[in-house]
Amino acid sequence: MPSLSDVIAALETLWPPHQAEDWDAVGLVCGDPEAEVTRVLFAVDPVQEVADEAVRIGADLLVTHHPLYLRGTSTVAATGFKGRVVHTLIKNDVALHVAHTNADRADPGVSDALAGAVGLRITGPLVPDGTDPSGRRGLGRIGELDAPLTLAAFAARAARGLPRTATGLRVAGDPEQLVRTVAVCGGSGDGLFDDVRAAGVDAYLTADLRHHPASEAQQWGLASDGRPALVDAAHWATEWPWCEQAAGQLDEISDRHGWALRTYVSHQVTDPWTAHEPAPEAVSGTSSSLSSRKSPEATLPTSASRPQSHPGAPR
Ligand SMILES: [Zn+2]
Repeated sequence: MPSLSDVIAALETLWPPHQAEDWDAVGLVCGDPEAEVTRVLFAVDPVQEVADEAVRIGADLLVTHHPLYLRGTSTVAATGFKGRVVHTLIKNDVALHVAHTNADRADPGVSDALAGAVGLRITGPLVPDGTDPSGRRGLGRIGELDAPLTLAAFAARAARGLPRTATGLRVAGDPEQLVRTVAVCGGSGDGLFDDVRAAGVDAYLTADLRHHPASEAQQWGLASDGRPALVDAAHWATEWPWCEQAAGQLDEISDRHGWALRTYVSHQVTDPWTAHEPAPEAVSGTSSSLSSRKSPEATLPTSASRPQSHPGAPR
């Protein structure tokens, strides 16, 4: 049975901490390096319900993508919600380890999992890491579909491939335009528009797109050939596929070492948005309906006929 330090050393081969951004806070948050590990839970967010789930399943280690304390703290008192998470974990002998931007940049990383979830064959990183001679590491990924799809069909595929959230997907672009090449970035991706434009892809799938960067990208596209179309998913949904990928990677390491670890992936939807109010019946000419009828699971915007999505366990 491995110690926590053994497991952490293995995780750091997958997501080397020195590859994290300078501002990031990755690595071990709490836990005794000498403690034995038998069960590991993977999740996106180190929130209370996930800490409670770790306790419930008897996990010794919780691995999350998002940091608990990104900007440091001077107290872990249980009077605050983060301190309560720390108390829950320590009182129940659950360690917490964070792999954030080091997991974004890794090969495979967060965006590989996202690309795989929506059926893309990866051709390379969107922003290559100059220190990687293999040219495979970096931020975001560029991928290809086996055959072109309309934007509406690609969005429907993305909605099916990603875990369901209350807000679903938002789309910008002509629903009939063809999509073959797609840039993806798990998490907030509106800082990468210059790279997306330079890549010349048909569409960009990411999360947290703000009005101005999205509007400018759309205007830029309209002034040329309409590309890239934008598909904006819930932040949590774009990063959740990494949890399954990461659990699979640790399973392989466990098998290799004969550790007999049991890995789990949290299916709790921790996206903060819990409901979506669809637009009222559209006035003719003001709202375009994407073909949500083709896919009952598609959660596309602005369609008055679109069924409202509901939060629930992914997959
Ligand atoms: Zn994130």
